[in-house]
Amino acid sequence: MIYDLHAHSNASDGILSPEDLVARAKVRSVDVLALTDHDTTAGIRAASLAAKAAGLTFVAGIEFSTQWHKRGVHILGLNIDPGHDQLVEVVQEQHRRRLSRAHLIAERLDRLGMAGSLEGARRIAGSELIGRPHFARYLVEAGHVTSVAAAFKKYLGSGKVGDVAPDWLSMAEVIQVIRRAGGVATLAHPRKYNLTRSKICTLADHFKEEGGQGIEVISGTQTPEDTLDMVRIAERFGLCASAGSDFHMPDQPWQELGACGSLPSGCTPVWQLWQSH
Ligand code: AMP
Ligand code: MN
Ligand code: MN
Ligand code: MN
Repeated sequence: MIYDLHAHSNASDGILSPEDLVARAKVRSVDVLALTDHDTTAGIRAASLAAKAAGLTFVAGIEFSTQWHKRGVHILGLNIDPGHDQLVEVVQEQHRRRLSRAHLIAERLDRLGMAGSLEGARRIAGSELIGRPHFARYLVEAGHVTSVAAAFKKYLGSGKVGDVAPDWLSMAEVIQVIRRAGGVATLAHPRKYNLTRSKICTLADHFKEEGGQGIEVISGTQTPEDTLDMVRIAERFGLCASAGSDFHMPDQPWQELGACGSLPSGCTPVWQLWQSH
């Protein structure tokens, strides 16, 4: 069985529509797919219908941007009820925060002589749910940089002018709302926060304490040693293991849909938490 429990559509910063994402999952022999767009559930209905037609098991998900000790940390809500009142409210609140952050990013880019980025990013996003990748694509389009990678390196990545300090909801609040909406809160890509191993452990400890239940022991392609190390952390803090590609678009071999591999034996998979009832 191929599980991929972390993937994006163009409802957030992915390239494929929810339907095309499901079609790609089918071609790549994925058996169980979770759609986990950033701070939105907008693609879930379309993806769920497409998955049903394709005979693929679908898991409704979301990837929340949250704050933990002034750091941005991503928390997946897996197997959520996307219509849950409080979840819907929190999603709306995140949209407001995303939009005001987008205004700040645009002001800063404007001051550097790159005008029109808010309108450009909004058009590329196709909604008000604007992320840094939409700014990056706009900067490429407007000829300010030659690639999305260069846009992050120069203007949007960590520590750069467009890396506006996050004002997301706290990790604890987000874990709570995921759980109320029937979901499993799962710590996304723990190795991508530039934390030392001991800081990752502190994060995992707090996450568990606040009601978190899962951790991505596999994110994209990574070495077996890194996977085993994450499995040890999962075991130490009593967290279930998850695996996801973090797919955003075709032609990125390190995050191809369904290519993250399976969990090492002995792990307690996160899906046991919803398959058991
Ligand atoms: P945001 O949600 O607006 O904070 O944007 C974060 C998103 O930007 C991530 O989910 C990635 O999809 C993308 N991203 C982050 N860093 C890079 C990078 N160096 N190059 C390309 N995309 C990136
Ligand atoms: Mn993204
Ligand atoms: Mn993420
Ligand atoms: Mn992601």
